[in-house]
Formats: sequence, structure tokens, C-alpha cells
Amino acid sequence: MKKIVIATNNAHKLDEIRAILGDQLELLSLKDIHCDVDIPETANTLEGNASQKAHFIYDNYGLNCFADDTGLEVEALNGEPGVHTARYATEGHDTDANVRKLLHELEDKKNRKARFRTIVSLIEDGVEHQFEGIVNGTITTEKRGKNGFGYDPVFIPEGYDETFAELGVEVKNHVSHRAKAITKLCNYLLNK
Ligand code: IMP
Repeated sequence: MKKIVIATNNAHKLDEIRAILGDQLELLSLKDIHCDVDIPETANTLEGNASQKAHFIYDNYGLNCFADDTGLEVEALNGEPGVHTARYATEGHDTDANVRKLLHELEDKKNRKARFRTIVSLIEDGVEHQFEGIVNGTITTEKRGKNGFGYDPVFIPEGYDETFAELGVEVKNHVSHRAKAITKLCNYLLNK
């Protein structure tokens, strides 16, 4: 089975990606390769950050790898927080503060349309490929549900009435931004 490193320290992402891939690829975490550094993410696009994270592992460890970077793009906020999604409220990756700020910014807005966009950057034998996954939806007026992570309690995917945090991981892994990008990655790796 093909072995590949996933350049993330986020246990939620890792769980989701393992569930989406099943046993089609053998995934190595950063812990598995004894990497415990905070990988820099200083680009000003999702594409740039995904690429930077994947290059960091390939350049320092010489292993084939992929990284994902995700942004929440809100129509009434001109696409924000976008690349600033993780540090929307503070520099500290404070999820509660991020969600509070988002709900506050949208308080008087009728247009609640938003989308999650994931870019996966793969580096295989030094060659880079990127894959995109998008899920459209709307932002609620308050947090709902206990599953998932990040902005899941305030995001309702198109075609559903519940948030990702209410729908749970099985539905999320079927329709999410990350599922779409990871499925494209997997098809590429297994079919070429
Ligand atoms: P990153 O891709 O790890 O840089 O994540 C950017 C920001 O988006 C962080 O605040 C995450 O909590 C949030 N985020 C990433 N993926 C998801 C998701 O699947 N659901 C909800 N929030 C997410």
C-alpha cells in the first residue's frame, strides 16, 4: 500500500481524512515521522499555505506528503475570513472567539451564504499537484450541535437543515469540502 505523510497536527482533520481514505492509502502523521514543529503558514492564499506546509515536510524529511488548508468564505463579508479563518478573532487560533466574531459580523445581515474551501497540496517525488474541494451552505445565527470542530456548529451545508456539528462525522465526510478534495487526491494517487 502507498505510504504518504499528512502534514497536520490537527487530530480532528486526521480522523476525518483517515475515515475518508479508509484503507486505500497508509497515512503517516507528523507524530509518526517524529516532527513536532509548528509548520509555518505565512502565505496569503489557501493555495500558498497548503503548498508551504507540504513543501516544509518534503524539503526537511524527503517524504512524499500532502497538506490541506481550509478557509470559510462568507458572501456578505466579501469572502472573509478566507485565508484568515484560523486567526479571525485573535492570533491564538481561538475557535470560540472566531465563531463569536463571525456571528457578530453577520448580526444584521440577511445574506448568510458561505462556503468552505479546502486546498490539498500533494508533493510526490518533488512534483506538486493541488486539489480543491468546496461545499456551499449558510451560517446560522447561533451555535448548534456538538460534533466536528472549528466552525462546524454554525455551518449548514446546502441540502440539509442541520449544522455539520449536528449532522455528525459520517454525513460531513460524505459532503464536505475536505471529503471532496481528499477524494480527488485519492483518485489521482490510485489511478495514475
Ligand atoms: P486550517 O486549514 O487548519 O488552517 O484551518 C483554518 C481554520 O478553519 C481553523 O480555524 C479551523 O478550525 C477551521 N476549519 C478547518 N476545517 C474545518 C472544518 O471542516 N469545519 C469547521 N471549521 C474548519
